[in-house]
Amino acid sequence: MKVMKFGGTSVGSPQRMKEVTQIFNPAEGEQSFVVLSAMSGTTNTLVEISDYLYKNNPEGASTVINQLEQKYLAHVDELYSTQAYRDKTIEFLHEKFQYIRSFTKYAPTFSSAEEKIILAQGEILSTTMVTNYLLEQGRKVLLLSALDIVRTDENGEPDFNYIREATVKKLREHADYDIYITQGFICRNSQGEVDNLQRGGSDYTACLIGAALQTDEIQIWTDIDGMHNNDPRIVDHTEPVRQLYFEEAAELAYFGAKILHPTCIQPAKFAGVPVRLLNTMDPTAPGTIINNEIQRGTIKAVAAKDNITCIQIQSSRMLLAYGFLRKVFEIFEQYKTSIDMICTSEVGVSVTIDNRAHLSDIVNELKKYGTVEVDDGMCIVCVVGDLASGNVGFETRACMAVKKIPVRMISYGGSNYNISFLVKAEDKKRTLQALSETLFKG
Ligand code: ADP
Ligand code: ASP
Ligand code: MG
Repeated sequence: MKVMKFGGTSVGSPQRMKEVTQIFNPAEGEQSFVVLSAMSGTTNTLVEISDYLYKNNPEGASTVINQLEQKYLAHVDELYSTQAYRDKTIEFLHEKFQYIRSFTKYAPTFSSAEEKIILAQGEILSTTMVTNYLLEQGRKVLLLSALDIVRTDENGEPDFNYIREATVKKLREHADYDIYITQGFICRNSQGEVDNLQRGGSDYTACLIGAALQTDEIQIWTDIDGMHNNDPRIVDHTEPVRQLYFEEAAELAYFGAKILHPTCIQPAKFAGVPVRLLNTMDPTAPGTIINNEIQRGTIKAVAAKDNITCIQIQSSRMLLAYGFLRKVFEIFEQYKTSIDMICTSEVGVSVTIDNRAHLSDIVNELKKYGTVEVDDGMCIVCVVGDLASGNVGFETRACMAVKKIPVRMISYGGSNYNISFLVKAEDKKRTLQALSETLFKG
């Protein structure tokens, strides 16, 4: 069995929905497990509806809900050819939008629990519409609710054992289907409430299910022909990378390559299931395969992570003192804030974080141990490839590329696959461009 995930653009219109069903049509005697995102733009619109409700503006929310409902209703005629399935889907859409509308009465006390329910509706809409289309075509298709098979634990991390047991059980109970469809992104938390795996989380759902089922391959179908060697939204003439080692893909995803959810590679890596990135607009293009092979001596790609804050703590007391770093790290742990980059010297340490929620508390605590300086509006640019220290000259090439850019921090040697530069957000574009020119041209 293959697990195949289709992103928002891939199911972004009735035409696209029909096309993807051709892609995931299993061969005779085989089965497909399909994970779908919401139609493109829908989750953003659901966020907008929630924003109105947070601001206690039910009228604003209702206007956007009505517009979204009209947009969905307009797809029905094109997607279905029989009146029975048109009626069935219209009834479903009316019911779902009535449900979304019901939250407008909670506007004065609207909270994140209600927001998560609203955000979950996008994937519920897309999966039901595609399932109805396949049923109309006479296919043996089963819609499984992700709310029954995907759960997070008390730390908000996917509860892998639960996901594996629940998914295997469902498939065993309903073995006689050609196609299983479920929603990406959405899940329940340890309290049983509707939750999600963060924006872009459908990739994560697919990798968790692929790892749970130990499938041959996890396919992530999107709107581009694989992982490019630099961010195609920012740099011209980027090229697809044909193969990535699991660690390389994980670093690129974590450090900003939007094509993959930041942590989705981990479960695939642990289960040893290869991940293939493919293009729904060009289904025969080879895409990118992510597996356990290391290609020696190659720099693969560059990515950038925005909204980074750098905190520097300087203290003469650090000189020759043991336990200083522990005290610093404990403060970040206390405020559940993870550190991305770290550089140390005899008299100071600089770290970066991307979550500013507890910044002022963290800075106040750190001030007990030294002088603290905060720089925000920074960006981590990460170069990924076989960057083991034995490969003489590779880090020099990366450093040469940024010779004209003021670099605030450099991190190298933390793993064999990455060298990271911390630069100001305003220097991001020219840093990415300079790296492409030096590392990938010719
Ligand atoms: P989906 O909705 O299918 O999940 P996303 O928008 O999340 O699609 O991811 C695909 C997009 O990621 C591409 O259209 C591209 O603009 C962007 N992207 C950013 N960095 C990269 C990269 N290094 N390689 C490929 N695509 C990238
Ligand atoms: N629909 C969700 C989002 O827009 C999840 C996803 O597309 O992966 O973030
Ligand atoms: Mg995505």
